[in-house]
Amino acid sequence: MNNTNVSRTPSIDQDILNRIVREVFERINLTVPSKEPEKKETENVVYDSINPKRIPVGVSVRHVHLCKEHLEKLFGPGAELDHLRELYQPGTHAEKQTVALIGPKTRLLEKVRILGPLRDRTQVELAKTDAIFLGIDAPLRISGDIKGSAPITIIGPKGVVELDEGCIRAMRHVHMNPKEAAYFGLKNGDKVKLRVGGPNAVTFENMVVRVSDNVRLEVHLDTDEGNVADIGCGKDVEIIKD
Ligand SMILES: [Zn+2]
Repeated sequence: MNNTNVSRTPSIDQDILNRIVREVFERINLTVPSKEPEKKETENVVYDSINPKRIPVGVSVRHVHLCKEHLEKLFGPGAELDHLRELYQPGTHAEKQTVALIGPKTRLLEKVRILGPLRDRTQVELAKTDAIFLGIDAPLRISGDIKGSAPITIIGPKGVVELDEGCIRAMRHVHMNPKEAAYFGLKNGDKVKLRVGGPNAVTFENMVVRVSDNVRLEVHLDTDEGNVADIGCGKDVEIIKD
């Protein structure tokens, strides 16, 4: 469908790819299925009630959402997601499965977490630093809007998926349900500012408001944004309406 797109990153030479895949397989197979403590993928600070000056924040580490077809291609026929733990948003999980990502520079990002549930389309979400490392020009998008986004190669223990599109940087956003949106006087697609206090205080602009049922009030930033604001401390995070 997108074969005519001329701005595609050239695909990796097949021999190089095969060699890298073999090396990754060897490394994956050497990795004992981990007694090592799992790194926290998302840090959540949860508050009891709505307080515009104390909004829960989740810092999303680079991750992958898979469709069923790609799950089976990467992890073998009949593979299913294997929950590691629940995430803050209802019905979402960090899965035990991880993959490696490779871009045009043939550099690898290993142990990239799969987040469930399965989606209709596979999507890779990177921070800018990750994208630079891989040599991928990942566009800034709202999650799910992947048409014409960057190509990327995903390597799993049983196979490789070469995506023509699907690699993005997620636009900073705040999830809220309709009740919370009404409380703030906001609607889906609005933009707000987010002020983070502390020694590295910073105000993020263009935070997209995403209103949907079955979500909890939570700001989502990527690791670059979280790091610049020392947001792991997670305090004094404030929504400011324009
Ligand atoms: Zn989100």
